Amino acid sequence: MTSLSDLPIRDDLRGLKPYGAPTDPVSIQLNVNENTHPIPEAVATDIVTALAQAVMSANRYPDREFTELRESLAAYLGHGLTADNIWAANGSNEVLQQTLQAFGGPGRRVLGFPPTYSMHSIIASGTGTEWVTATRDPEYDLTPATVVAAIVEHAPDVIFLCSPNNPTGTSVSIETIVAAYDATEGIVLVDEAYAEFSDLESALTLLHRRPRLIVSRTMSKAFAFAGARVGYLAADPAIADALRLVRLPYHLSVLTQAAAVAALAHATEMLAMVDEIKTQRDRMSAGLAALGFVPVPSEANFVLFGGVADPQALFHKLLIQDILIRDVGIPHHLRVTAGTEAETTAFLDAMADLQALGRVES
Ligand SMILES: *Cc1c(COP(=O)(O)O)cnc(C)c1O
Repeated sequence: MTSLSDLPIRDDLRGLKPYGAPTDPVSIQLNVNENTHPIPEAVATDIVTALAQAVMSANRYPDREFTELRESLAAYLGHGLTADNIWAANGSNEVLQQTLQAFGGPGRRVLGFPPTYSMHSIIASGTGTEWVTATRDPEYDLTPATVVAAIVEHAPDVIFLCSPNNPTGTSVSIETIVAAYDATEGIVLVDEAYAEFSDLESALTLLHRRPRLIVSRTMSKAFAFAGARVGYLAADPAIADALRLVRLPYHLSVLTQAAAVAALAHATEMLAMVDEIKTQRDRMSAGLAALGFVPVPSEANFVLFGGVADPQALFHKLLIQDILIRDVGIPHHLRVTAGTEAETTAFLDAMADLQALGRVES
């Protein structure tokens, strides 16, 4: 049998591992930060009607400029943004990839601050961009001084700031984003995949007169649309012009565009569960703390918690009880997505049973 190492693959890809969140088919899946509430049936019906209409024209290529979708996304974001400020792709991962295709690439560097979203470094390697990292402040914070020092040290072409950050749930302050922008002539991309769960100010408020700032968003998390694969960004219109140079023509199918526009017309219903998810997130944090674990304060729809003696053992004990969470590779920590009330109860009950096994004395 041929193995990967037998193939004439790029040298810089040799030995790398693909993205691989385990996807065991269990009943309680709290591992990839989806909105675990299903789409309301009335909304689903409207989306299907839009898809039925769109499929009739699937003999033709879709609108290459996805104008209606960009208008819908601009209206959803507000902040005075128009369709010219918006770009979209098949998930925000593709938006990030196109950003590095245009502004990174061989001989260029992207700076990130681990622990952060695992795809950031994978997209860097896929685009041949060097991934350089710097250490965070205590409690996973990122002060302006720390970020500026890292920019001075590494001279990156692109800086990825994730806010709220996956997997910690912590946010990057507006002051830090401004300091990063002022310290570089490169691109500053703020990954706001979890913005709808946060009470803090969005980097969208900073876009005016900052043409090198990009704010990326997704419909995969709060918007309960992960399966549809729609991500987007807001930035100066010149950024979209740059991405037009690297995107594949017609990258957003007629079906994707129709589904996303129909879903955005029901934004209120799609986002109806966000407050409830935040309630369950806070319940998870409180419940974990009461059991002696150490939850990191989260602005997202998940909780990273420490104080775990053996994360792999606890992960597997939960899996046996049909609950899937995430080992993100931080010693003595695990990450869990805030689910429905019932899912959250099931998780906390299981944790109470496993408390003695899981906890390290601190
Ligand atoms: C989940 C996630 C995304 C979303 O990726 P999509 O491709 O839009 O599904 C982006 N950034 C971060 C930090 C995430 O956690």
